[in-house]
Amino acid sequence: MKLAAQDRIALDADVAVVGGGPAGAATATHLARAGVDVLLLDAQRFPRFKPCGEFMSPQCLPLLRELRAFDVVRDLGAQEVAGMELFGWGRSARGRFVDVGRARAPIAHGWAIRREVFDAALLDNARSAGVRVLEGVRVRSVRRDSTGRVLGVDARAADGSTLQVGARWTIGADGLRSRVARDLGVQRDDPRLRRMALVTRFAGASLQRLAQVHFFADGYFALAPVDGGLVSVNLVLSMDAFEREALPRDRAFEAWVERVPEVRERLAGAERVDPVRGVGPMSMRTTQQTFDGAALVGDACGYADPMTGEGVFFALKGASMLAASLRDALASDTVERAQLAPYLRGRAKEITPRARVCRWMVQALHRPTLARAAFRWLEARPGLADLAVSMSGDYATNHELLRPSVWTRAFATGARA
Ligand SMILES: Cc1cc2nc3c(=O)[nH]c(=O)nc-3n(C[C@H](O)[C@H](O)[C@H](O)COP(=O)(O)OP(=O)(O)OC[C@H]3O[C@@H](n4cnc5c(N)ncnc54)[C@H](O)[C@@H]3O)c2cc1C
Repeated sequence: MKLAAQDRIALDADVAVVGGGPAGAATATHLARAGVDVLLLDAQRFPRFKPCGEFMSPQCLPLLRELRAFDVVRDLGAQEVAGMELFGWGRSARGRFVDVGRARAPIAHGWAIRREVFDAALLDNARSAGVRVLEGVRVRSVRRDSTGRVLGVDARAADGSTLQVGARWTIGADGLRSRVARDLGVQRDDPRLRRMALVTRFAGASLQRLAQVHFFADGYFALAPVDGGLVSVNLVLSMDAFEREALPRDRAFEAWVERVPEVRERLAGAERVDPVRGVGPMSMRTTQQTFDGAALVGDACGYADPMTGEGVFFALKGASMLAASLRDALASDTVERAQLAPYLRGRAKEITPRARVCRWMVQALHRPTLARAAFRWLEARPGLADLAVSMSGDYATNHELLRPSVWTRAFATGARA
């Protein structure tokens, strides 16, 4: 969709989606396929870079099928990731995505693909579904009436023209530093979560269907084999560790590679093909996700720690649940937040518990005694490593993960099936 160069443009839609990452593109696609008139605005032009470990959990794959985007993402070169190798405190373990109790892995692998490739494909998929997409248009503020009900957004295009978008429902899918969440007054900085990430990619460092996570006291490196024979490398550090040394990004990245022997060895002889880009501090959460006339989805709801690689699943699953709720809400005349109660219930079941487990794992790994003990067990018991890795696969519910028989079996397993 192209904009005529004008000073002020007014547009209307049933639903205005702010942000064209996985959460926004997926929400818009589901709605458009149900016959809803959707306008999506993104501040950037695609393909655009997004700092990410670029790993997608196995449970994302059925969600991509639902979006009818599975084949296209596979054909773009998404690499199969069958499990993870975990390194830390002189020990190592290898876990695969396996069935957990009664929970069956939908497919025995996840995928890894460069985010600029994946996100552009999802946005194209939204366009084909009938979504009107405006790229290079930044939302500046949310418009509300005197009762607080959201009426749409004001935005500015790259050519300087301003847009006034009116919509029955406005969706904030605008990521970690969501303008929509901030304007609605629900964004909070959580100092306990403050992290900095440095991301880049290498050629010539093969990983053979396994991602790797290398833990150390101040953070971790995550490596994933992506399309084009590249390896995506993320360094996630506590803000303190990053600020303590006050080095430029690329020097800080190189210094940490030197300090972690397994990463140094893995990248020896490989060539860095991307700049080292930084993102952080990453520490946002929100106090509310639905409003009269609006909702938040994906990272706009709050930061998903990248350690377990679940952010894309949260975005796609959240989108699917929000679209289902919105379809019902649009059938009525009102735009009360109560109509989105099923979405909130879905989040409480599918997203909040997983995000909580991830936070616990992050906190545990920052306690050296606990982390050392965990690695001792993981190395000695392959079944336990399978279980730990499967937790990040997003197919097992916490209920399943808490069943004693699941743990007894994992402890007893001396060798992987
Ligand atoms: C270092 C790092 C590593 C990660 N690794 C993984 C991983 O391996 N696996 C995984 O599953 N998750 C990972 N994540 C999390 C994952 O990247 C996010 O959870 C996911 O991208 C969320 O998708 P989203 O659509 O909500 O937001 P985004 O992908 O951030 O998309 C938001 C979109 O909104 C647009 N936007 C922002 N502001 C405005 C505005 N004012 N107006 C219009 N448009 C706007 C942006 O241009 C962007 O396109 C990682 C995150 C980080 C930071």
